[in-house]
Amino acid sequence: MERLFQISTPVGLVAKLDRAYRMPSGLLVLVELKTRWINQPFLSDVIQLSAQRMAVMGQTGQVVASYGYVMVKAPTGRAFPIAHRVQLMTDEEIVALIKKREDILAGRLMPRRLHSRNACLTCVFRAQCDHPRA
Ligand code: SF4
Repeated sequence: MERLFQISTPVGLVAKLDRAYRMPSGLLVLVELKTRWINQPFLSDVIQLSAQRMAVMGQTGQVVASYGYVMVKAPTGRAFPIAHRVQLMTDEEIVALIKKREDILAGRLMPRRLHSRNACLTCVFRAQCDHPRA
């Protein structure tokens, strides 16, 4: 069920879980539900699940699997969700990502342009962007 988890060290992080399943061994496996036409997991899904893992382990001390599942369902009534197993990022990689974001927002680091044209097509910052790719 959906629930918020929160940690303050090594970084401040609040993450909302879609679902978690407990294996017979006690290991928790995280699941993220997505409704979209493209039937594949995105890097943003992996980042979300990895941040959730970090927050759950930090708040509860429970062991969460280093992998998770992205369940992708097409936005039609009859579609069934399809499960994609993904390898999650480590806590160190998540902390580095958060630091990088802070550095970009503070102007200490220049962001690189995305490789994907599709991301630019739907980007909310497109109007202000100097280098949209599409
Ligand atoms: S429009 Fe600009 S800010 Fe948005 S994804 Fe493309 S390059 Fe990045």
